[in-house]
Amino acid sequence: TDNVLEIKNLHTYFYTDGGVIKAVDGVDVELRRGATLGIVGESGSGKSVTSLSVMGLLTGTKGKIADGEILLDGDDIVKLTKEQQRKLRGSKISMIFQEPMTSLNPVMKIGDQVAECVLQHEKISKKEALKKAEDMLRKTGVPRVEHMMKEYPFQLSGGQRQRVMIAMALVCKPEILIADEPTTALDVTIQAQILDLMNQLKKETGTSILFITHDLGVVAEVCDDVAVMYCGRVVERGDVKTIFANPSHPYTKGLLGSIPRLGDAGKELKSIPGNVPNPKYMPKGCKFAPRCPYASEKCREAEPGFFQIGEGHISRCWLCESGQLKTDHVEKAG
Ligand code: SF4
Ligand code: MG
Repeated sequence: TDNVLEIKNLHTYFYTDGGVIKAVDGVDVELRRGATLGIVGESGSGKSVTSLSVMGLLTGTKGKIADGEILLDGDDIVKLTKEQQRKLRGSKISMIFQEPMTSLNPVMKIGDQVAECVLQHEKISKKEALKKAEDMLRKTGVPRVEHMMKEYPFQLSGGQRQRVMIAMALVCKPEILIADEPTTALDVTIQAQILDLMNQLKKETGTSILFITHDLGVVAEVCDDVAVMYCGRVVERGDVKTIFANPSHPYTKGLLGSIPRLGDAGKELKSIPGNVPNPKYMPKGCKFAPRCPYASEKCREAEPGFFQIGEGHISRCWLCESGQLKTDHVEKAG
C-alpha cells in the first residue's frame, strides 16, 4: 500500500520536575495516501502529543521524541533540523486546531493572513497571493468573500474562523492535513458543515488527513481508518467499518457505548467507569485493566502485544490471544 505517513514505534516523553511522563509510549500508525486516519481516545491518551510530534511542535514544551521514526514519503522527519521542520509546516504538512482564534493573527485582515501562508511557500507577487487566498476562501464556502478578505478575525463567527483556518491550511496544497479536534468547539450544525467541507476538499485536493478526536461520531463521518489510543499506546486499529461493526478491544467497546444514538435522547450517556490512570502511576500489565470488566490476573501482570484479528485489524488485548501475535510491546526503561 501507498502510505504518505508512517509513525513507527514513536515514544514522546515529557521531562518534568516530577519525573518522566511517557505521553506517547510506542505508537505505530500508517496514513494511506488520500485517506483520513482517525486517532481517537480520551484526553490524556496521547493523541494530541502524537500530532504535535508529527508537526515538530514540541519545542517550548518539556516534550521530546525519545525514540521512533516519523516517515513522510519515506523520509524520517524526526532527524530534520528545527529549520527544516519549520519549512515542512505549511508546505507538506498543515494543521488546524480546536480554537482557530489562537492561531489567527487578531490584527491582520483575513485576506492578508491567507495570502501570507501562500507567500511563505511560493515566490509570487502579493497580488497573485491575494487572488489565491480569495479562490481558496471561496472553496471553503464562506459568505461574501470579497468583504471577508478585509475583515478581522473577531468579526467572524466560530464556524467562519474554522473555514478560514482550513483555507490557510490547504492553500499551499499540503500532502497531509492534521486536524486536532477541529469541530469540538462548534455547535452541532456547524460541526456537520465543517466535516462535510473537509470531506469535499479531501476529495478535490487528494490531501491525506490525520484526524485527532475524542468523538467516535466524528470518526464515523470522516475517517477511513481508525487507531484507538489509550495511555500513550494504540490499543486497536482497523478500517472504520470493521471497528464500528466488530470492535474487539474492551476500551473501544466502551467508547462505542458512549456514542449517543437516535432514540437515546434524554437517556444518560453510558461512559466508561473510572479514569485514565495518572501517568506517574501507570499500572503494570495492561493499562486498561483497572477499568476493564474482563481484566484477569494475567492482564494485571503482563501487557499484551498486538494480536491480528482480521485483515488490517489488530488489537492489544489478551482476549484476542487466539489471533496471531503481531508485535510485542517493548516496555522502555527510563
Ligand atoms: Fe481488559 Fe485484559 Fe484485554 Fe486489558 S488485556 S483490555 S485488561 S481483557
Ligand atoms: Mg487534545
